[in-house]
Amino acid sequence: MSVLTRNEAQTRAQLLDVHRYTVDLDLTTGEATFDSTTAIRFTARTAGDTFVEIKPETLRSLSLDGQPLDPERLDGNRYPLDRLTAGPHELTVAATMRYSRTGEGMHRFTDPADGETYVYTQLFMEDVQRVFAAFDQPDLKSVFDLTVTTPTGWTVLGNGVSTQAADGRWHIAPTPPISTYLVAVAAGPWHSVTTQHAGLPFGIHCRRSLAPHLDADADEILDITRACYDRYHEKFDEPYPFDSYDQAFVPEFNAGAMENPGLVTFRDEFVYRSAVTDTERQTRAMVVAHEMAHMWFGDLVTLTWWDDIWLNESFAEYMGYQTLTEATRFTDTWTDFGVARKGWGYDADQRPSTHPVAPDPDAVPDTASALLNFDGISYAKGASALRQLVAWLGEKDFLAGINTHFSRHKFANATLADFIDNLATATDRDVHTWADAWLRTTGVDTLTAHVETSGHSWNLTVDRAGDRPHRVTVGTYDHSLDTHTGTDQLTLRDRFDIDIPQDGTPVTQPGHRPDLVVLNDHDLTYAKIRLDPGSWDTALTHLSGIPDPLTRALVWNTARDMVRDGELHPTVHLTAARTHLPYETDLALVQGVLGFAATQIADRYLPPQDRPTALATLTSLCRDLLRRTEGLTAKDWEQAPGTTTPGPGLRLIAVRHFIDAATQPDAIQDWLREGTVPGGPELDAELRWRILTRLAVLGATDETAIAHELDKDPSATGQEGAARCRAALPTAEAKAAAWQAMFTDDTLSNYLFTATAQGFWQPGQSELLHPYVARYYPDAIALAARRGPAIAEAAGRHAFPAHAVDPDSIRLGEQALTDPALTPALRRKLTDQLDDLRRALAVRDAH
Ligand SMILES: [Zn+2]
Repeated sequence: MSVLTRNEAQTRAQLLDVHRYTVDLDLTTGEATFDSTTAIRFTARTAGDTFVEIKPETLRSLSLDGQPLDPERLDGNRYPLDRLTAGPHELTVAATMRYSRTGEGMHRFTDPADGETYVYTQLFMEDVQRVFAAFDQPDLKSVFDLTVTTPTGWTVLGNGVSTQAADGRWHIAPTPPISTYLVAVAAGPWHSVTTQHAGLPFGIHCRRSLAPHLDADADEILDITRACYDRYHEKFDEPYPFDSYDQAFVPEFNAGAMENPGLVTFRDEFVYRSAVTDTERQTRAMVVAHEMAHMWFGDLVTLTWWDDIWLNESFAEYMGYQTLTEATRFTDTWTDFGVARKGWGYDADQRPSTHPVAPDPDAVPDTASALLNFDGISYAKGASALRQLVAWLGEKDFLAGINTHFSRHKFANATLADFIDNLATATDRDVHTWADAWLRTTGVDTLTAHVETSGHSWNLTVDRAGDRPHRVTVGTYDHSLDTHTGTDQLTLRDRFDIDIPQDGTPVTQPGHRPDLVVLNDHDLTYAKIRLDPGSWDTALTHLSGIPDPLTRALVWNTARDMVRDGELHPTVHLTAARTHLPYETDLALVQGVLGFAATQIADRYLPPQDRPTALATLTSLCRDLLRRTEGLTAKDWEQAPGTTTPGPGLRLIAVRHFIDAATQPDAIQDWLREGTVPGGPELDAELRWRILTRLAVLGATDETAIAHELDKDPSATGQEGAARCRAALPTAEAKAAAWQAMFTDDTLSNYLFTATAQGFWQPGQSELLHPYVARYYPDAIALAARRGPAIAEAAGRHAFPAHAVDPDSIRLGEQALTDPALTPALRRKLTDQLDDLRRALAVRDAH
């Protein structure tokens, strides 16, 4: 198979003007394959050679302008169209196509809960070629007119409104001009909730076995959808560009969601079967807002080539968080962004594989290299840069620039240069220089505060390592005694903005020096922050007493990257968590800090002999949180969605982390037997599988118990839970069977592969797992070559020996990077994983 290069795409875009795809899919031809017939009407601007892409099981026939072509001439995924004459043409292609089990192309899933089958497409980047023939590049937009034949009783969803013409024969209304990667179809006996908003049909859909769970949240999901829709219409001059808005929650989806025009697909874990925290509800809402932003940025105006994916993703990420804050009950989204997303950007930006937010086009020569840039840089760093841009430009000018961009390029394509030029029309500021400093460079600046007392005033100077301009807020805080509780609090004295670099003179403020000076207090910029020593002492001892969660998030992030940089001992971070989290009210913060403490500090940054003590610290912290949330009534649990008290959500986080950190089986075994945590919550399927997984890790359960649990929960999630438990059992037979399933059988779906991998590697089982560290590299390289990018991603992310923090393991990995059989997707994952191992080793060596 050939990947498309940027040069080839540019040549083809100059040659062709594509008008219309008429696609006919027949989904009634069996479980393995479906039939696909495509007619493409296009014009060649001059005479020339080109090609069309398709990845068929069997290419049955082709014709050009009524003349048959020889199917044997298919070369990999390209069919040559030589000596095309100038003028209009019609190409027809009939093929048999294979269903996918990896979430790429036309994914087919049979629900173990009820035997119903569903199919959906994920055609992103170049997977349209797995479904029908196409000139597959983002700047050859076209009208798409699809007809789909299905078994009786199915519903077909598509980009446009769908109607059933005859039994099982569905027609989807033709689209306006869109890119090939944005075409979507989802078919099956969907459970649907439909409504109308602003004169358009809105729908949400899921498989039938999830129906009660979707119904329970339908109002919430649709309310957020409507609120975002209305808010975007206040921000954007261009109206919503498509004829309907469907959101389908689909099984075994690889990403969080995909922004197909008029038919957004989401992973169906977002239809909650078990209890979740309000932060998780906020995440779902953010994804709804993010995908809807793409309807304008990505779908109406599309990148010309894949070097500009940040234009899609950074914008949707920024708009998603900002719009949720403005238009829904989730008003604290930037704290979650600071805790859950920014670290992703900072981490990616400090690896050898970092790249500018907007890479040089030459650095993205083909689709395989473009796929690697869906990372923390393109999402989290880019969104942070846009947030800083809005702080610097003002929102009014920012939106005016965006609206010019939409009106100039609607139903067409645009580049970074277009975007910056359009912003420049709305402001006197030098946007081009800003873009060079922020979007064309790599790495994280570090801003270090120095505070000095000087008579009756104090001075602030900021050292900057790095070259970017920053506009930041400085917050100053003093101790005060809360007379009601007798506890020591921090109160805000003042906030003021400064520009960095400073003009050479320190900022002088009246009065004694504050007890705490926080640089970047509203987290409006993207930089590492180092507090002055006096402020750092105050922060460590009073972190939970800082009034604003966004400020606390910033201080926790500072502690996090000081640990990663070897400047703060991991146990100091753990002690701070133990001290402050019992008083923390922000769920995103509790979750984020506990997650880092468990998966990085306990599992990787501390040497193995210190791990039991770290886990004991975590379980005693969780016990404190459980005590703090005792006495919740049934009503408290019912009102969990949208509740303003952190009770049920906080308790749920504590229960989950207690289970994951348990070093003795007794307590959680009791919970499982009783079916409840004392004082609640009652165990739902998620918590039962979680406990059983931990018992498996500890060797305190067996196959009989796992099979029994699977009888009680035979759903798809249950199948994943059982696979995870089986792989986690500390026996040589269990590990051998899991390895065989992952690396030899090639039958696991993307989701079952991931579940097995998650169970397999356990930091407490290093002796048993040691032989697999060396086996991993050759087996993963061969697997990635056989099964493609989605499984390669899962193998690199979840099946990697991440707890083997030792020089031998790193050396094996470095040797593997020289293997010529390594695919680009796996190479990037391994490079990043090895960098994380090296960092963990450096953290251990630093203390
Ligand atoms: Zn996106």
